[in-house]
Amino acid sequence: MIDKTRPVLTIVVPCYNEEEVLPETIKQLSQLLQDLIEDKLVSYKSSLLFVDDGSRDRTWEIIETENQKNSYVKGLNLARNAGHQNALLAGLMAAKEQSDCTVSIDADLQDDISVIRTFVEKYWQGNDIVYGVRDKRDTDTFFKRNTALGYYRFMKKLGINLVPNHADFRLMSKRALEELEKYQEKNLFLRGIIPLIGFSSAEVYYDRKERLAGESKYPLKKMLAFALDGITSFSVAPIRIVTLIGFGVFLFSIMAGCYAIIEKILGHTESGWTSLIISIWLIGGLQLIGIGVIGEYIGKIFSEVKGRPKYAIQTDLYSKKEKKPAHVGKPELLVARNK
Ligand code: UDP
Ligand code: MG
Repeated sequence: MIDKTRPVLTIVVPCYNEEEVLPETIKQLSQLLQDLIEDKLVSYKSSLLFVDDGSRDRTWEIIETENQKNSYVKGLNLARNAGHQNALLAGLMAAKEQSDCTVSIDADLQDDISVIRTFVEKYWQGNDIVYGVRDKRDTDTFFKRNTALGYYRFMKKLGINLVPNHADFRLMSKRALEELEKYQEKNLFLRGIIPLIGFSSAEVYYDRKERLAGESKYPLKKMLAFALDGITSFSVAPIRIVTLIGFGVFLFSIMAGCYAIIEKILGHTESGWTSLIISIWLIGGLQLIGIGVIGEYIGKIFSEVKGRPKYAIQTDLYSKKEKKPAHVGKPELLVARNK
């Protein structure tokens, strides 16, 4: 007998040039899903949704072939590389229509897939969001571990609510996803937005492993851009800091002015050159920093105002809605209209 009350779970996996690791990921996740279904934790309609984020290797071919063989495997192919966060969102929004809950996980199996079972149990207990939190970061490099820790501290100081050591490994209910959809911003930083949604949530701890195969798709450049995005998408603190520095410089210049006048009265006027050149450089530098920070926000306003779509779906093996290219259709219609 099929129990209709069991939740439909979709596991969403963004993939960018993951041909080396994908076959193993598919194998392990399919096994996990089958166990969950057999143990009556999730519905038999549950599936795995792989989002190909414009890969240049055989990633999409692997997904397509598996889709033919393995009934759990569904795929979504983005028309270009939209970035991890956008690819993830594309998958979550597609999955939302046909699932009661979704779990997002990276393709490299660094996150312990066995805790997905605990996620589902927490969901059964009434949690709308379940965060996977890394217990240790032994497998990360010294540099990555410490920059990450410093970053969480810094964000907290700025008043940004992040779950420390939580990447994008989490469960979200349909209700939470519907709320997420209402956040229309283009500069997407999911880790910051999701705690803003609310609903009851839980944390599950696990050990993060080494990447199974392939290499990180997050080089230092992308990591820095991502970290900066997190700050400027959620906080105006950098602008405040610039204002504060501005005040400091203003007070300092009053003092320096008094000093210069006293020096002049005392007749030591020629000694002013050093202080003059230093203040010119100092103020020039501060102005440049200020302009840079303001520019960062103007850049954000610019992209929000343009309102560009965040991604375009090319092929959809998930909802089976065929998106035909513009010229496919009935040519007779065109002929009729031209008459
Ligand atoms: N990813 C993506 N688009 C990108 C970069 C990465 O979809 O432009 C995916 C990637 O395939 C992986 C996940 O995002 O599933 C996390 O990337 P990665 O494991 O390389 O990051 P790290 O764990 O090193 O921070
Ligand atoms: Mg990884």
